[in-house]
Amino acid sequence: MWRQQKFDLIVVGGGPAGSTAARFAAMGGIKVLLLEKDRDIGVPVRCGEAASDEGLRIFVEPDPRWIKSVINKLRLISPSEHTIDIELKQTGYILDRRIFDYDLAQYAADEGAQIVCKAYVDGLLFKDDRVAGVTGEYLLYVEGVGAGRLSMDFPKGAQRRQRRSRRIGQV
Ligand SMILES: Cc1cc2nc3c(=O)[nH]c(=O)nc-3n(C[C@H](O)[C@H](O)[C@H](O)COP(=O)(O)OP(=O)(O)OC[C@H]3O[C@@H](n4cnc5c(N)ncnc54)[C@H](O)[C@@H]3O)c2cc1C
Repeated sequence: MWRQQKFDLIVVGGGPAGSTAARFAAMGGIKVLLLEKDRDIGVPVRCGEAASDEGLRIFVEPDPRWIKSVINKLRLISPSEHTIDIELKQTGYILDRRIFDYDLAQYAADEGAQIVCKAYVDGLLFKDDRVAGVTGEYLLYVEGVGAGRLSMDFPKGAQRRQRRSRRIGQV
């Protein structure tokens, strides 16, 4: 059970950055926990979903399932409806972020990272003035336990410096 374990790295947030960090850290052989506040990775989408092929390839091989459309130019429209067209010098995509984000998290899990959703991080644990863990709230749908307090630390004896309770929901 993840709450009884110690981790080398706790990643907060299961967006592309968090999942990719978790993936590469786990590939490096350390024990990784990724905490995401929302119920599902990739939902809700808060993004225009445009990305360049070159940019994606820095950290992942693009999967055709992620690509809603291939684009070759952008049009920026101001509130006064002034438009600027920009021709792209490289291949661009409109992604499906729900699938994209989910797959990136899956890649992290495939490398051994543990991923927990409905886990809202609201504070840090400190030991010797160094970050030693996180605190927060979680919902455990699987076990039907309901809302609870989250406290994950790396080494034993971490002191809680910040203690706030922000309940995010009930089951
Ligand atoms: C309206 C809009 C349009 C955009 N359009 C584009 C675009 O077309 N192209 C582009 O490249 N970028 C676009 N962006 C930017 C793009 O969405 C972000 O750069 C990208 O999502 C950042 O990835 P990330 O992993 O750093 O963060 P996010 O994708 O924001 O992921 C952060 C994750 O952390 C979780 N989280 C946050 N706080 C906590 C907490 N306390 N505890 C636990 N979990 C937490 C969130 O739920 C979220 O899942 C757009 C952004 C907006 C708002």
